[in-house]
Amino acid sequence: MAEILKGAPVAAALSEELIRRAAALRGAGILPTLAILRVGERPDDVAYENAAVKRCEKVGVSVRRVLLPHSCAREALLDAVARINDDPAIHGCLLFRPLPDRESEAAACALLSPEKDVDGCTAGSLAAVFTGKGPGFPPCTAQACLELLDYYGISPAGKRVAVVGRSLVIGRPVAMMLQSRDATVTMCHSKTADLAAACREADIVVAAAGQAGLIDASCVRAGQVVLDVGINVTAEGTLRGDVRFDEAEPVVKAITPVPAGVGAVTTAVLAKHVLQAAERSL
Ligand code: NAD
Repeated sequence: MAEILKGAPVAAALSEELIRRAAALRGAGILPTLAILRVGERPDDVAYENAAVKRCEKVGVSVRRVLLPHSCAREALLDAVARINDDPAIHGCLLFRPLPDRESEAAACALLSPEKDVDGCTAGSLAAVFTGKGPGFPPCTAQACLELLDYYGISPAGKRVAVVGRSLVIGRPVAMMLQSRDATVTMCHSKTADLAAACREADIVVAAAGQAGLIDASCVRAGQVVLDVGINVTAEGTLRGDVRFDEAEPVVKAITPVPAGVGAVTTAVLAKHVLQAAERSL
């Protein structure tokens, strides 16, 4: 039986620390504030937004919602980003992606100040992930994987890690962050010749492919730690991870569930990044 690495205790521990830091900022006359910029009404965006607002309220981060219609012109989006950049009372901005128009998304990410980019979408933030220097923040989900490992006392140093997925939102940044923490990282993707063998060789598997049940019994072995980042909605409307939990859990040493695993840590990381941005503004 594997240890189940639940996200809630990680988020609770983070929140305790964040409550103290938010109070210190308020004592210094700063109300840490997040702007949430959402285009359209995608149900998963709205669900995440509600969870983020709840987490922020709990720790003392104020939230301003900026909502634009699905059909909004690029100028309206860029104007909203510019106003967020120029507002000294806003410390961080969460821009929901993907946007309906990919070119508008690229333009919005290019315009957003890296100092306020609390979810790692700007080139400045990604450069900071790669160099360890400069303004910006890693994407919250990538950081959530690291927070989870730290909370459960799992050091990536010297370990072999297989990251499945190479998106800029999760796969690539989490691979770079784990490498910075002295892991030996193999990046797997849709063209990887033998995914199962690459995963079995690893001590830690990070599954972030967005393919329900991709990581099955053939990909796991005893002693592994498995982080399942995937959130896939089935035709019946239930959530499934990228890992076949029923096949992996009896074999591996530790595993995150879906839901209630990595995803439960992400909003706490978002609030943490807003507080860091506010602290840096002091
Ligand atoms: P994406 O579609 O942008 O990228 C998926 C990556 O997986 C690609 O690099 C692709 O090469 C790789 N891939 C696809 N099929 C593969 C296969 N058969 N074998 C190996 N690699 C394969 O997705 P994303 O935005 O990176 O999201 C990945 C998953 O994480 C999704 O399920 C998403 O819903 C979830 N997600 C979770 C959170 C969270 O808070 N837990 C946050 C964001 C995204």
